[in-house]
Amino acid sequence: MRVSHPTTYRTDPTAFDCPSCGTSTTGDPRDHCPQCLHTRHQDPGDPCGAAMAPLAVAVHGPGDWRLIHRCTGCATLTSAPVRPDDHRVLLMALAVRPLAQPPFPLDLLGRI
Ligand SMILES: [Zn+2]
Ligand SMILES: [Zn+2]
Repeated sequence: MRVSHPTTYRTDPTAFDCPSCGTSTTGDPRDHCPQCLHTRHQDPGDPCGAAMAPLAVAVHGPGDWRLIHRCTGCATLTSAPVRPDDHRVLLMALAVRPLAQPPFPLDLLGRI
């Protein structure tokens, strides 16, 4: 369901309206969209409010994946724990992106 995004945030901490795809979830506190992994920049006291796009996956320990988000408005980076209902194909696509888009020819690996 597509929803509008008011400039003021909901007071219900369990409600989340995705700023990118419009997915609306309630009843389970979350900080990013399970469908497209975007979130909204809403640090306490920071009026930014822009959408934050998923940039990468970081591994903090066994089974402890975190999503790295970059704000489309102010370029701030944040991290948040991956959730069990996050879109797994998108998570894997983020995880393999550095291997799919290397900054040098991969045939160099054969010379190591
Ligand atoms: Zn979304
Ligand atoms: Zn921002």
